[in-house]
Amino acid sequence: MDDLNVSYGNVRAVRGVSLAAAPGRVTLVLGPNGAGKTTTLRAVAGLHPPVGGRVVLDGADVTGRAAHVLVRRGLALVPEGRRIFGPLTVEENLRLGAYLAAKAEFEERRERVYTLFPVLAERRHGPGALLSGGEQQMLAFARALMSGPKVMLLDEPSMGLAPTMVDTVFDQVRAIADTGVAVVAVEQNADAALEIADEVAVLDRGEVVFCGSAADARSQGSVVRAFLGEAALAEPGRTAITPPDLG
Ligand code: ATP
Repeated sequence: MDDLNVSYGNVRAVRGVSLAAAPGRVTLVLGPNGAGKTTTLRAVAGLHPPVGGRVVLDGADVTGRAAHVLVRRGLALVPEGRRIFGPLTVEENLRLGAYLAAKAEFEERRERVYTLFPVLAERRHGPGALLSGGEQQMLAFARALMSGPKVMLLDEPSMGLAPTMVDTVFDQVRAIADTGVAVVAVEQNADAALEIADEVAVLDRGEVVFCGSAADARSQGSVVRAFLGEAALAEPGRTAITPPDLG
């Protein structure tokens, strides 16, 4: 996304945000509550049209295209709170994620997600509602993977999970990226998410206030912490660190 601007009425929630996601890489988006992280994902996913800037997918300008068109073109959003279909079985949830796929394609993708998440294969005939929080997050990932995405947008995948599940879920995010998908993950859980991320951006009040490699952020943990801490305190307009490399 390049110079993305998104508004709710007169309120500009996202201001000039530029971020890049690449195949096999995890781009982590951190920031305090209300920083504009969810709004950014929704604008990219075609759920809330931006008022300015561009979204480019595989070299094509897809700014403002509808969500269902973007799914067809390889973009999948895993929303905050997972939103799986509780009364439906695990396999029925997967089928809904693959509604565009032909039978052979569905079966091939299903086997791939069952290999990635063996517990879902064990529970395939049980209702989604009976899965644990961590398993429901796996199902939300798996359902998104069933659309055969090139890019996956994850909104706070660790939210509401037991602390023991958090690292497991981030390991799965890493595993998804390692299959060649470009992952953009919004998180509040900075320390755990940085362990598996490649690039990191910090948003505050709708703007990118830090952008760099996750390795740098890990080795100088105080840097990101300072931005996250300062982000809550900073004066509006105090921004401008490293511009992202959009390739
Ligand atoms: P959180 O971590 O709390 O989800 P966030 O970084 O995802 O925060 P957003 O939810 O994108 O932030 O919100 C960005 C700004 O837009 C906030 O000031 C919020 O109050 C505002 N906002 C979000 N949704 C709406 C809406 N539907 N109508 C009006 N303003 C909204």
